[in-house]
Amino acid sequence: MMMDQNSIQSALNLIDKRIATAAQAAGRTRDDVKLMAVSKKKPAADIEQAILAGQTLFGENRVQEAQDKWPDLLQKYPDIKLHLIGPLQTNKVRQAVKLFHAIHSLDRPKLAHSLARVMEEEGISIPVYIQVNTGDEPQKAGVGLDDLPSFVSLARDELGLNVQGLMAIPPAHDHPGPHFALLARLARDLGLSELSMGMSGDYEQAIQLGSTLVRVGSSIFGARD
Ligand SMILES: *Cc1c(COP(=O)(O)O)cnc(C)c1O
Repeated sequence: MMMDQNSIQSALNLIDKRIATAAQAAGRTRDDVKLMAVSKKKPAADIEQAILAGQTLFGENRVQEAQDKWPDLLQKYPDIKLHLIGPLQTNKVRQAVKLFHAIHSLDRPKLAHSLARVMEEEGISIPVYIQVNTGDEPQKAGVGLDDLPSFVSLARDELGLNVQGLMAIPPAHDHPGPHFALLARLARDLGLSELSMGMSGDYEQAIQLGSTLVRVGSSIFGARD
């Protein structure tokens, strides 16, 4: 389903207000929280409507899909930032580093080594977030809680990656609050300032618990097929 410009624009306006309200309720300000528009499975025409409405930060979860949709948009709108929020295979690292402005899904040593090597070769340094499996779900990506401190020190201290913060996707059937609180505590303990957490259904709660970047898809663009 394509959303018309008015509905995308009014959705963005509404979310912006709700972010501001949630931030203020938590003693923070609107500027403390970035809104990422997650445009996976949505056509370039919808993305362009969001851009024309003033949205500047976008997220995609698949390298190939982003490769198909984004080069033209980024050329036309050079101020837009595009982040990868989905799994990254090592054979796609070079493409990813050249296309995206940040990666939220760093989740294993092999990928950390590959990112460090390719960024060095390409002369590019983009920020990364470490994805944490806060629910210890076997099928889900993300570093396990026990492995997190040593993984941060590998990525940040040994490999010199620009680790900005942590990212998590709480288990679908859990209350998200405890997962957001846990992620915030882990980031604080590790000296990381950015928290990529909160989606359409729970971004206000994520802001309450310290999110600095919410990843919102369906509330902006409508349901995905
Ligand atoms: C799809 C997706 C989102 C957005 O989800 P909505 O519920 O549509 O807001 C956020 N984060 C990640 C990692 C996603 O894959």
